Amino acid sequence: MTRTYLIKPVLDYKYPAITHGDGIYLYDEKGKQYIDGSSGAVTASIGHGVQEVIDAMAEQSKKVSFVYRSQFTTESAEQLAKKISEISPGDLNWSFFVNSGSEATETAMKIAIQYWQEKGMKTKNKIISRWMSYHGITMGALSMSGHIQRRERFEPMLENYPSLSAPYYYRDADQRTIEECDDFYAQELEKEILRIGKDHIAAFIAEPMVGAAGGALTPSDGYFQKMKAVCDRYDILFIADEVMTGVGRTGKMFAMEHFNVIPDIIATGKGMSAGYTPMAAAIVSEKVMEPILKGSKIVMSGHTFSANPQSAATCLAVLNYIEKNNVVENSAVNGAYLKEKIRELAEASEIIGDVRGKGLFVGVEFVKDKLTKNSFDRALDVVSRIVQANFEEGLLVYPANAGTDGLIGDAVILSPPLTITKEEVDELVRRFAVALRKVE
Ligand code: PLP
Repeated sequence: MTRTYLIKPVLDYKYPAITHGDGIYLYDEKGKQYIDGSSGAVTASIGHGVQEVIDAMAEQSKKVSFVYRSQFTTESAEQLAKKISEISPGDLNWSFFVNSGSEATETAMKIAIQYWQEKGMKTKNKIISRWMSYHGITMGALSMSGHIQRRERFEPMLENYPSLSAPYYYRDADQRTIEECDDFYAQELEKEILRIGKDHIAAFIAEPMVGAAGGALTPSDGYFQKMKAVCDRYDILFIADEVMTGVGRTGKMFAMEHFNVIPDIIATGKGMSAGYTPMAAAIVSEKVMEPILKGSKIVMSGHTFSANPQSAATCLAVLNYIEKNNVVENSAVNGAYLKEKIRELAEASEIIGDVRGKGLFVGVEFVKDKLTKNSFDRALDVVSRIVQANFEEGLLVYPANAGTDGLIGDAVILSPPLTITKEEVDELVRRFAVALRKVE
């Protein structure tokens, strides 16, 4: 092949071509094997080549692959929505299907705004969000995101602006207890509400555990209860962005279950299709749907491919597979094992400052000096070097960036398929240790 017509993330980098996948492994055209230790972008959560899913895709394509959602419904879309209502907490019973996580958070944002409009409160249209967050790449989703690099070029067009801190105890709890940190974060939210005025705010959005912009930042058990109490006091909806954490990734079906808080809307994606098809959802509570059902009766959002029957059948097969094979439990058990093994590595390592996460969502933060927690010089680009060293060892890890200014917080996420076995975790850790030694 002399030239390419495909626009790739980095245009002058030669990407290896993957020929096939099997379980937690991917194989490239030269026969090199990789452990998919990041599940791509925290997506391939049941591994590659699962026969039940492939069969369900074939079955559905024999029936019908596409109908338009404003003309018809289908059995597969109805069944998927029912299944999601069964696995979701509280009264989060309604699903709006879209094609990507960005569309899911953006739909959640729009539904939150519409909820207040239907109740006659037309000025409640701002979304409060946190720095060190990522909610998606489309303009509405990006406007809520606290990911500096991804915002930078489009800043003049972004209407929302993140304003809060994310719980980053590794650094924030140096001088304070975790409880004091949580009080600070909740006060910050309250001050922001008072500054903007509660009549101008529709919702607060947060990732239960921060992914790309934090490296599996994990809040305390009490953090979300404090934040939700502030939201409730000022009549502000809470949207949980579970695009990365949803559907078993953290050892519970939804990560918010760890924190005993039921959101008003959940955005989910990635693991819900496990990468077998592009599909995501905004999952909406009865409370939020009620005024819409009584009012305009139309959720003002949607895409040509929303509720696509082919994708719905695929996701349904993924969710059935997860249930039948106790995949969420495996995520909890082998995730705890993975974290323990990485913590052992960290003790002997000069550069691992923090290991955090829940389930098979493990964040590893690198520092120049473990005592002072000083970060590496930017020019050293330690995250790229870690990712590259692992790549050479046949292990994929997901780069993440912590730190509000984008200047501190070099992290990676280990997030293999939730079906990984204990022996496969051992092999993943072995490869990670070899790569680490190359960088240290
Ligand atoms: N929200 C979170 C928490 C994410 O991690 C991502 C993607 O990484 C998104 C939203 C956007 O999802 P997508 O890339 O499918 O548009």
